[in-house]
Amino acid sequence: MSDVKQLPTRDEVDEALTWDLTQIFKSDADWKAAYQKIEQDLEQRDTYQGHLGESADQLLAGTTYLLDIWHQLENVDVYASLKQEQDTGDQDAQGLAAQANDLVARAGSALAWFNPEVLSIPEETLQSWLKEATLAPYAHYFADLDRAREHTLSADKEGLLAGASDIFGASAKTFGVLDNADLEFPVVKDEAGNDVRLTQGVYGVLLQSTDRSVRAAAFKQLYKVYLQFQNTFASTLSSNVKGHNFDASVHHYPTARAAALASNNVPESVYDTLVTEVNSHLDLLHRYVSLRKRILGVDHLHTYDLYTPITGESPLSYTYPEAQQTALKALSVMGDDYVSHVQEAFDNRWVDVVETKGKRSGAFSSGVYDTNPYILLNWQDNLEELFTLVHEMGHSIHSYYTRHNQPFQYGDYSIFVAEIASTTNENTLTQYLLDNTDDPKVKAFVLNHYLDGFKGTVFRQTQFAEFEHWIHQEDAAGHPLTAQHMADYYGKLNQTYYGDDLTPDPEIAYEWARIPHFYYNYYVFQYATGFAAASTLSHNITSQKPGALEHYLNFLKAGSSAYPLDVMKTAGVDMTKPDYLQDAFAVFEQRLNEFEALLK
Ligand SMILES: [Zn+2]
Repeated sequence: MSDVKQLPTRDEVDEALTWDLTQIFKSDADWKAAYQKIEQDLEQRDTYQGHLGESADQLLAGTTYLLDIWHQLENVDVYASLKQEQDTGDQDAQGLAAQANDLVARAGSALAWFNPEVLSIPEETLQSWLKEATLAPYAHYFADLDRAREHTLSADKEGLLAGASDIFGASAKTFGVLDNADLEFPVVKDEAGNDVRLTQGVYGVLLQSTDRSVRAAAFKQLYKVYLQFQNTFASTLSSNVKGHNFDASVHHYPTARAAALASNNVPESVYDTLVTEVNSHLDLLHRYVSLRKRILGVDHLHTYDLYTPITGESPLSYTYPEAQQTALKALSVMGDDYVSHVQEAFDNRWVDVVETKGKRSGAFSSGVYDTNPYILLNWQDNLEELFTLVHEMGHSIHSYYTRHNQPFQYGDYSIFVAEIASTTNENTLTQYLLDNTDDPKVKAFVLNHYLDGFKGTVFRQTQFAEFEHWIHQEDAAGHPLTAQHMADYYGKLNQTYYGDDLTPDPEIAYEWARIPHFYYNYYVFQYATGFAAASTLSHNITSQKPGALEHYLNFLKAGSSAYPLDVMKTAGVDMTKPDYLQDAFAVFEQRLNEFEALLK
């Protein structure tokens, strides 16, 4: 970059705009003492190992011991990692983080006997013990663990597989190295006519350019490289799929998808319902694509025309204090208690606001059971940052409610529900902004922001999910996943999603070659289910549907005390049924209508 911004160092920032990590440990010396205490506790494991199956009391003692170590370890780990994230150049913090990582790994292997030993207790014995009052608070914890019983092989076989895990992960690793390090992309022109070397990051920026020749060149030049290496990418992807299918079959799962979804106890029908519903609402995406074509005024709409903004520059800008006030007002529909914790986040230094030298980029919500649910931001005065603030606040208030209402063993929540709390807040902010402006420019911009988010999260991730499932099925059926075979399918799938108004660029059939998420093992569908559930929840809350808010708060308080789908039912969304998706599409359609009317 040509003009390097001079960022402040941490000590130049107003303390009120930094997070307060002394609420975890007063000093590094206190951290060190906690660290040593865990090391000592780990030495006591012989007292419990090999004795879990002797009696309900022994099982309780071993479980309490195990959870207590993880509980202590969380604090040590999060303190070190947040210190490192706030200034990645801080050598002392790097040292702490490395030590914490080492201790987590050591504890993991020192305590690895626990789950297999529980599973070696005969099922009837375990069930009868769990009825005792002392073990009852752990009943769901053990039920969850017990689901692995029929999918766990003998210790020697599991040992062999564990020993080969690096080999199974090799193709995903090769993809990463090739994609991030070894591939060299050509030089293209940016909007100012300067030569810039394409990278994944630069590509994302150039694709949004309002200069069509800039985004067209970026698209064509980037894909030239992926096409050149198409057979290598087909090989890494196909080997990764083979690994999933092999692992599922040796562990007695009917499909790789069943194996992957089992970790959250989600039935495959949830996935199929998503795909079916999205396919039956593709006419909405086609309408949005044709609207885009009309506004851009192009004869042929190409893939590289899909990301450029169609409502121009953002008419909205917020300083951080303004954003805090807007967030409080937008989230007021969540009730006084919810808002009081948002205020607490601002007043009690949960948020690290300012972009400083060496600070990790982007934004996240973190923290553990005993700590504040901290938020890292790199504040810029724009609408996107306001959305980021309410998104991360959604995670943090979810964490806060869970940790204050559940015991440690249920004090976290699964990835399947995590993005629901954050995107419910985003949807709620969208509604607030739409309700509180008469300026058609602002309205159009906010609607476009929402429609693009829905397109990218619900439609696009479901397209990915469909492709991901197809490659696993093809491999299981013995059909070789060659580059050509995958491109044939992907090209058609892409056309089905975007419709006839999108001109089929031959390059896009190879998009699968550059998507890291296809190596994540049935991960992407959760983006789509989560966004749709959030849209429905937010709509019910903002339209003050009776009981909606109470149900939602109960969901935020549930943590992992029940399986994700059951937790979602307490929120009022049954994700085994298509209704929540249909409700989300109804909101999309209504906002698309509004957007079309505004642009006329
Ligand atoms: Zn998030």
